[in-house]
Amino acid sequence: MEKRVFNHKKLVIASHNKGKIIEISDLLAPLNIEILSAHDFDLEEPFENGVTFEENALIKSAFVTHKTGLPSISDDSGICFDDLNGEPGIYSARWAGLNKDFNLAMCNINKAIKEKKDPNYVCQFICALSISWPDGFDVTVSGQVNGKYTWPPRGKKGFGYDPIFKPLGYNITFAEMDPLLKHKISHRSIAFKKLINFCFPSLKR
Ligand code: IMP
Repeated sequence: MEKRVFNHKKLVIASHNKGKIIEISDLLAPLNIEILSAHDFDLEEPFENGVTFEENALIKSAFVTHKTGLPSISDDSGICFDDLNGEPGIYSARWAGLNKDFNLAMCNINKAIKEKKDPNYVCQFICALSISWPDGFDVTVSGQVNGKYTWPPRGKKGFGYDPIFKPLGYNITFAEMDPLLKHKISHRSIAFKKLINFCFPSLKR
Protein backbone atom coordinates (compact mmCIF):
# COMPACT_ATOMS: atom_id res chain seq x y z
CA MET A 1 0.00 0.00 0.00
CA GLU A 2 1.17 3.52 -0.79
CA LYS A 3 2.32 5.61 2.18
CA ARG A 4 1.35 9.22 2.79
CA VAL A 5 2.37 11.39 5.71
CA PHE A 6 -0.68 12.92 7.38
CA ASN A 7 -0.02 16.65 7.75
CA HIS A 8 -3.49 18.15 8.20
CA LYS A 9 -4.45 20.10 11.33
CA LYS A 10 -7.89 18.46 11.73
CA LEU A 11 -9.04 14.84 11.66
CA VAL A 12 -12.64 13.66 12.03
CA ILE A 13 -13.34 10.34 13.75
CA ALA A 14 -16.03 8.73 11.58
CA SER A 15 -17.96 7.20 14.46
CA HIS A 16 -20.84 7.79 16.88
CA ASN A 17 -19.63 5.04 19.22
CA LYS A 18 -18.45 6.70 22.46
CA GLY A 19 -16.10 3.84 23.38
CA LYS A 20 -14.38 3.92 20.00
CA ILE A 21 -14.17 7.73 19.96
CA ILE A 22 -12.42 7.68 23.37
CA GLU A 23 -9.95 4.96 22.36
CA ILE A 24 -9.12 6.49 18.96
CA SER A 25 -8.77 10.00 20.49
CA ASP A 26 -6.31 8.57 23.04
CA LEU A 27 -4.27 6.93 20.28
CA LEU A 28 -4.23 10.18 18.24
CA ALA A 29 -3.51 12.50 21.21
CA PRO A 30 0.28 12.67 20.59
CA LEU A 31 -0.36 14.20 17.15
CA ASN A 32 -1.54 17.44 18.81
CA ILE A 33 -4.10 18.18 16.12
CA GLU A 34 -7.80 19.01 16.42
CA ILE A 35 -9.80 15.79 16.73
CA LEU A 36 -13.49 15.97 15.81
CA SER A 37 -16.10 13.26 15.47
CA ALA A 38 -19.19 12.51 13.37
CA HIS A 39 -21.18 13.89 16.35
CA ASP A 40 -19.78 17.39 15.78
CA PHE A 41 -21.32 17.42 12.28
CA ASP A 42 -24.58 15.71 13.15
CA LEU A 43 -23.90 13.17 10.42
CA GLU A 44 -26.04 10.13 9.80
CA GLU A 45 -24.34 6.72 9.56
CA PRO A 46 -23.67 5.37 6.06
CA PHE A 47 -25.04 1.98 5.07
CA GLU A 48 -22.28 -0.55 5.71
CA ASN A 49 -22.67 -3.07 2.92
CA GLY A 50 -19.07 -4.27 2.79
CA VAL A 51 -18.31 -7.92 3.43
CA THR A 52 -15.07 -7.34 5.33
CA PHE A 53 -14.00 -5.09 8.20
CA GLU A 54 -11.67 -3.28 5.78
CA GLU A 55 -14.43 -2.56 3.25
CA ASN A 56 -16.76 -1.23 5.94
CA ALA A 57 -14.03 0.94 7.47
CA LEU A 58 -13.37 2.54 4.10
CA ILE A 59 -17.10 3.11 3.47
CA LYS A 60 -17.30 5.06 6.76
CA SER A 61 -14.19 7.23 6.35
CA ALA A 62 -14.95 7.99 2.68
CA PHE A 63 -18.52 8.98 3.63
CA VAL A 64 -17.45 11.38 6.39
CA THR A 65 -14.71 12.94 4.25
CA HIS A 66 -17.20 13.41 1.41
CA LYS A 67 -19.71 15.08 3.77
CA THR A 68 -17.26 17.31 5.68
CA GLY A 69 -14.48 18.00 3.18
CA LEU A 70 -12.05 17.03 5.97
CA PRO A 71 -9.78 14.01 6.33
CA SER A 72 -11.33 11.34 8.47
CA ILE A 73 -10.42 8.15 10.30
CA SER A 74 -12.83 5.28 10.79
CA ASP A 75 -12.83 2.03 12.72
CA ASP A 76 -14.73 -1.08 11.78
CA SER A 77 -14.29 -3.78 14.34
CA GLY A 78 -15.88 -6.71 16.03
CA ILE A 79 -15.49 -10.01 17.77
CA CYS A 80 -15.36 -13.41 16.03
CA PHE A 81 -15.99 -16.74 17.77
CA ASP A 82 -14.59 -19.95 16.31
CA ASP A 83 -17.52 -21.82 17.89
CA LEU A 84 -19.94 -19.62 15.90
CA ASN A 85 -18.09 -19.87 12.58
CA GLY A 86 -16.72 -16.37 12.98
CA GLU A 87 -19.99 -14.72 14.03
CA PRO A 88 -20.88 -12.02 14.97
CA GLY A 89 -17.84 -10.62 13.08
CA ILE A 90 -18.76 -7.62 10.93
CA TYR A 91 -22.26 -7.81 12.45
CA SER A 92 -21.02 -7.29 16.04
CA ALA A 93 -22.88 -3.99 16.43
CA ARG A 94 -26.08 -5.42 14.89
CA TRP A 95 -26.21 -8.26 17.46
CA ALA A 96 -26.84 -5.53 20.04
CA GLY A 97 -30.01 -4.43 18.21
CA LEU A 98 -31.32 -0.93 17.64
CA ASN A 99 -30.99 -0.14 21.36
CA LYS A 100 -27.27 -1.08 21.23
CA ASP A 101 -27.84 -3.40 24.17
CA PHE A 102 -24.56 -5.26 24.60
CA ASN A 103 -25.80 -7.18 27.65
CA LEU A 104 -28.39 -8.70 25.36
CA ALA A 105 -25.76 -9.35 22.66
CA MET A 106 -23.47 -11.08 25.17
CA CYS A 107 -26.37 -13.21 26.47
CA ASN A 108 -27.21 -14.25 22.91
CA ILE A 109 -23.59 -15.22 22.31
CA ASN A 110 -23.54 -17.21 25.53
CA LYS A 111 -26.72 -19.01 24.47
CA ALA A 112 -25.32 -19.85 21.02
CA ILE A 113 -22.01 -21.12 22.44
CA LYS A 114 -23.78 -23.20 25.12
CA GLU A 115 -25.65 -24.96 22.30
CA LYS A 116 -22.34 -26.16 20.77
CA LYS A 117 -21.22 -29.69 21.56
CA ASP A 118 -17.49 -29.18 22.20
CA PRO A 119 -16.92 -25.44 22.36
CA ASN A 120 -13.27 -24.31 22.32
CA TYR A 121 -14.10 -20.71 23.33
CA VAL A 122 -11.44 -19.33 20.98
CA CYS A 123 -12.21 -15.82 19.76
CA GLN A 124 -10.58 -12.80 18.18
CA PHE A 125 -11.19 -9.09 18.21
CA ILE A 126 -10.47 -7.59 14.78
CA CYS A 127 -10.18 -3.91 13.90
CA ALA A 128 -9.77 -2.22 10.53
CA LEU A 129 -8.78 1.45 10.48
CA SER A 130 -9.14 3.66 7.40
CA ILE A 131 -8.04 7.20 6.75
CA SER A 132 -9.58 9.09 3.83
CA TRP A 133 -8.10 12.31 2.46
CA PRO A 134 -10.26 14.93 0.70
CA ASP A 135 -8.45 14.30 -2.60
CA GLY A 136 -9.62 10.66 -2.65
CA PHE A 137 -6.46 9.02 -1.29
CA ASP A 138 -6.98 6.43 1.43
CA VAL A 139 -5.13 3.94 3.60
CA THR A 140 -6.68 0.91 5.34
CA VAL A 141 -4.95 -1.40 7.84
CA SER A 142 -6.12 -4.02 10.29
CA GLY A 143 -5.14 -5.68 13.54
CA GLN A 144 -6.20 -8.73 15.51
CA VAL A 145 -5.92 -9.85 19.12
CA ASN A 146 -6.58 -13.48 20.06
CA GLY A 147 -8.34 -14.54 23.20
CA LYS A 148 -10.77 -16.78 25.02
CA TYR A 149 -14.43 -16.28 25.70
CA THR A 150 -15.40 -16.17 29.37
CA TRP A 151 -18.79 -16.24 31.08
CA PRO A 152 -20.27 -14.52 33.08
CA PRO A 153 -19.22 -11.03 31.90
CA ARG A 154 -16.54 -9.48 34.12
CA GLY A 155 -15.44 -5.88 34.61
CA LYS A 156 -16.86 -2.40 34.12
CA LYS A 157 -14.18 -0.69 32.01
CA GLY A 158 -14.09 -0.55 28.23
CA PHE A 159 -17.21 -1.06 26.12
CA GLY A 160 -19.14 -3.52 23.94
CA TYR A 161 -17.94 -7.12 24.28
CA ASP A 162 -14.97 -6.32 26.54
CA PRO A 163 -16.47 -8.13 29.61
CA ILE A 164 -16.46 -11.56 27.90
CA PHE A 165 -13.03 -11.38 26.23
CA LYS A 166 -9.83 -12.51 27.93
CA PRO A 167 -6.80 -11.73 25.74
CA LEU A 168 -4.32 -14.62 25.48
CA GLY A 169 -1.74 -14.51 28.25
CA TYR A 170 -4.03 -12.65 30.69
CA ASN A 171 -6.45 -13.94 33.27
CA ILE A 172 -8.62 -10.81 33.21
CA THR A 173 -11.07 -9.49 30.63
CA PHE A 174 -10.58 -6.32 28.60
CA ALA A 175 -13.26 -4.76 30.82
CA GLU A 176 -11.21 -5.49 33.97
CA MET A 177 -8.01 -4.17 32.46
CA ASP A 178 -6.48 -0.73 32.95
CA PRO A 179 -7.35 1.11 29.71
CA LEU A 180 -3.66 1.93 29.25
CA LEU A 181 -2.87 -1.79 29.06
CA LYS A 182 -5.79 -2.41 26.69
CA HIS A 183 -4.42 0.39 24.47
CA LYS A 184 -1.09 -1.43 24.32
CA ILE A 185 -2.35 -4.85 23.28
CA SER A 186 -5.74 -4.39 21.61
CA HIS A 187 -6.72 -5.10 18.00
CA ARG A 188 -7.19 -1.31 17.65
CA SER A 189 -3.68 -0.51 18.85
CA ILE A 190 -2.16 -3.22 16.62
CA ALA A 191 -3.93 -1.68 13.61
CA PHE A 192 -2.90 1.79 14.79
CA LYS A 193 0.78 0.78 14.90
CA LYS A 194 0.49 -0.10 11.20
CA LEU A 195 -1.16 3.25 10.53
CA ILE A 196 1.76 5.00 12.25
CA ASN A 197 4.03 3.33 9.75
CA PHE A 198 1.93 4.48 6.78
CA CYS A 199 0.80 7.97 7.87
CA PHE A 200 2.18 9.18 11.21
CA PRO A 201 5.97 8.71 11.17
CA SER A 202 6.34 11.35 13.91
CA LEU A 203 4.73 8.87 16.35
CA LYS A 204 7.33 6.15 15.67
CA ARG A 205 9.41 5.30 18.72
P1 IMP B 1 -18.97 -1.26 14.13
O1 IMP B 1 -17.49 -1.31 13.85
O2 IMP B 1 -19.46 0.13 14.33
O3 IMP B 1 -19.75 -2.05 13.12
O4 IMP B 1 -19.22 -1.91 15.56
C1 IMP B 1 -18.42 -2.95 16.05
C2 IMP B 1 -18.88 -3.42 17.39
O5 IMP B 1 -17.93 -4.39 17.84
C3 IMP B 1 -18.87 -2.33 18.45
O6 IMP B 1 -20.11 -1.74 18.60
C4 IMP B 1 -18.46 -3.09 19.71
O7 IMP B 1 -19.55 -3.57 20.37
C5 IMP B 1 -17.66 -4.25 19.20
N1 IMP B 1 -16.26 -3.92 19.45
C6 IMP B 1 -15.33 -3.47 18.58
N2 IMP B 1 -14.17 -3.20 19.22
C7 IMP B 1 -14.39 -3.49 20.51
C8 IMP B 1 -13.57 -3.41 21.67
O8 IMP B 1 -12.41 -2.97 21.67
N3 IMP B 1 -14.16 -3.81 22.81
C9 IMP B 1 -15.43 -4.27 22.88
N4 IMP B 1 -16.23 -4.35 21.85
C10 IMP B 1 -15.72 -3.96 20.66
